[in-house]
Amino acid sequence: MALKRISKNHIIYKFTPAMRPVEKAHVGDIVVFETKDCFGEQIRDENVKLNEIDWNKVNPATGPLFVEEAEPGDTLKVEILSIRVNNPAIMAVAPGAGVLGNLKYDSKVKIVNVEKDFVIFSGLKVKMKPMIGVIGVAPKEGEYPTGTSDVHGGNMDIAELTAGTSIYFPVFVKGALLALGDLHAVQADGEICVTGAEASGEVVVRVDVIKDVQPKYPVLETSNYYAIIAPGKDLDEAVYKATMEAVNVLKRKYSLSFEEAYMLASLIVNLRINQVVDPRKGVRAEISKEYVSIEDFLS
Ligand code: CA
Ligand code: ZN
Repeated sequence: MALKRISKNHIIYKFTPAMRPVEKAHVGDIVVFETKDCFGEQIRDENVKLNEIDWNKVNPATGPLFVEEAEPGDTLKVEILSIRVNNPAIMAVAPGAGVLGNLKYDSKVKIVNVEKDFVIFSGLKVKMKPMIGVIGVAPKEGEYPTGTSDVHGGNMDIAELTAGTSIYFPVFVKGALLALGDLHAVQADGEICVTGAEASGEVVVRVDVIKDVQPKYPVLETSNYYAIIAPGKDLDEAVYKATMEAVNVLKRKYSLSFEEAYMLASLIVNLRINQVVDPRKGVRAEISKEYVSIEDFLS
């Protein structure tokens, strides 16, 4: 079994169909991605002024990885085997950013120590839950800065995208071209202030390909459920898209009319927020594994 490593010197700032791969892998290969933090490691202490950093170097994603067996029309499965975040983590707030960005307050940088199972926030121990903020594949066309998200993935900031979960992407170009970064030692649903506990680190993944079928949106798999990851210009749009796809999945799976699938969705589909602070908001529609399997999301 090959073990490949992509250093954090290989980074992208936008997902495009023309990205140049920096490493190749086959189905079943395990690949290590070293990642910079979302500030491009420009912030070392709390005195750094946010308006003095180079904003062209934020949200770097490591990669992209070319997966030999992946062709347009297929699905790329990325199994997250482990996530290690480095100490310390960095947080920031700035007027204009985050849920309460309309208020008047100061720009502030905060360094948060990362210990074994906790981050230390002003003496308060907050349980760690390392997760991946940015992960995606080449889009079909156009350019998507790594700070935003769409059906190719991107800056989705899914708190549940942790070690032990998998994420499935539609493949749009040969090789899929997987890139990831923006690790958080911990982040709650919403990413309210616009940052999680931002840290550099390392992610170990296993890649797989499902031939000739693909999901409409990225799909997250945890031990308990599958979730459709829908982007939107606002939460209403993201909720609508996630719901529409969940209803379609249930319709197909159980051969239901729209009306019945719509009702069933009201009983078994949980809508949850990924984040509300990036250029595109994100919602996930979770369906328990009691009712669906991955094939139900692929067509
Ligand atoms: Ca992010
Ligand atoms: Zn981040």
